[in-house]
Amino acid sequence: MVALEAFRERLVDAIGRGSVLTSPEDLAAYAFDGFCNGPLPAAVVLPRDARDVAAIVRIARDCGQPIVPRGAGTGLCGGAIAGDSGVVVSFARMNRVLAFDAANRRVRVQPGLVNLDLSKAVAGDGLFFGPDPSSQKTSTLGGNTATNAGGPHAFAYGSMSSHVLGIEYVDDAGDVRTVSLDDAGYDLTGALVGSEGTLGIVTAIELRLLRMPEAVRVCLAAFGDIDSASEAVSAIVAGGWQPTALEIIDRTIVRAVEAHYHAGFPVDAGAVLLVETAGERGDVEEAERAIADVARTHGALSWRSASSEREREALWQSRKGAAGAFGRIAPNYYIQDATVPRTKLPVAIRRVQEIARDNGLLVGNVFHAGDGNLHPLLLFDRSVPGQLEAVGHAGHDILATCIDLGGTISGEHGIGTEKRDSLPLVFTDDDLATMTRLRDVFDAHGAFNPDKIFPSGAVCGEVRAAQRLVPAGAWL
Ligand SMILES: Cc1cc2nc3c(=O)[nH]c(=O)nc-3n(C[C@H](O)[C@H](O)[C@H](O)COP(=O)(O)OP(=O)(O)OC[C@H]3O[C@@H](n4cnc5c(N)ncnc54)[C@H](O)[C@@H]3O)c2cc1C
Repeated sequence: MVALEAFRERLVDAIGRGSVLTSPEDLAAYAFDGFCNGPLPAAVVLPRDARDVAAIVRIARDCGQPIVPRGAGTGLCGGAIAGDSGVVVSFARMNRVLAFDAANRRVRVQPGLVNLDLSKAVAGDGLFFGPDPSSQKTSTLGGNTATNAGGPHAFAYGSMSSHVLGIEYVDDAGDVRTVSLDDAGYDLTGALVGSEGTLGIVTAIELRLLRMPEAVRVCLAAFGDIDSASEAVSAIVAGGWQPTALEIIDRTIVRAVEAHYHAGFPVDAGAVLLVETAGERGDVEEAERAIADVARTHGALSWRSASSEREREALWQSRKGAAGAFGRIAPNYYIQDATVPRTKLPVAIRRVQEIARDNGLLVGNVFHAGDGNLHPLLLFDRSVPGQLEAVGHAGHDILATCIDLGGTISGEHGIGTEKRDSLPLVFTDDDLATMTRLRDVFDAHGAFNPDKIFPSGAVCGEVRAAQRLVPAGAWL
């Protein structure tokens, strides 16, 4: 390996001193994501275009340094953190809309563009971007693409894989390539979406846009408990209704969120169901009436429709900003991400509550009920001896429960380092070998985000701390 200083100087020569960060203070800001932390990278680079990225890839390859792409660092599984060495490629300066074709509802963006900024940029033409992770005010379209991000509206519009039409990326030889859904043959665009930076470095994305609906309604149904709210969700979908979002929030989270945002959530309810319907005005009103009836049949104690756009926004802000309120309950939290078939939600939630109780932890639930994507929030205080380890045990047991119920280990957050040792819970050795062969085809040098996704090597510091007192392989 070339000496660290020589590596850094080559980067400076290629893309300029102002685009290369090397001081420990600067590097420290890139050593963590939304949950995990890790060591300092060798350097952080801030490219301005695909040519810069190509130069960085060639230099890193020559110097034997891994390459870790990074959007906003809101990921929750360690994907954007370098291991013991490596160059972090931050897309903070590649955040522009490159081309916008309103008539064909297509847009070409740089990967560092923040998700919500895209919807703002095209709103004047009556368009919006469908995938809306709760982190959408911060997370980038590059990160969303690499994690196949979802969000509350994935239930109706699908996750990123339903919206990415083409990708420009830099390959392991440092060449700029383009793949598109319009290409004949293998769907290489599909392979890159959700690949967590392991197959190539995304430098531009072609995205599908949606037309804003004529009417949008957001309603709140209060239930006595989370079971009846979950059963109502299954009944709404089974009845053939297609709301654009179905989100459940339990009492623990409702109370924290209401104390924080004051949007009018019913704090005495055991659980709240947030229902959004969108479409032609008449259809939306009819759907709302029918869904309210189904909810009442399944035990809804009250039903309230947001009467203004402001009220609607306030309800969504409370839901999407829920994480900002968790500090009212406990100093630390861990968000698990797993799925179950929708009809298994009541039993899954009951098991989650038992698991938390058995491990002496408080749990809150706020989740994408429409597509069975659970997000149990394990609330804890890392300064209390044993609590981080208890979170490790509980997190593992929740995953195992969801798999037993027919679900899987990640609904939308991805694998990164955090869940890579859980992959064998859902894939056979042959499955994993096939996936690593695909990885080798794209990245023969093993330079792109090594140690991510597949079981082996180091894990992030946060997870390692939790694992220390847990038998090897017992969780994550
Ligand atoms: C409060 C909160 C709420 C969240 N809610 C949701 C939600 O509702 N739905 C959801 O899906 N996720 C959610 N997340 C998780 C996270 O926001 C998503 O995974 C998001 O897509 C990450 O985007 P980012 O720009 O922060 O990417 P980063 O965290 O920087 O990176 C994520 C992964 O993408 C790779 N990557 C980034 N840019 C590129 C690129 N240009 N080329 C190749 N690879 C790249 C990185 O290497 C890494 O593996 C939430 C997180 C938080 C903190």
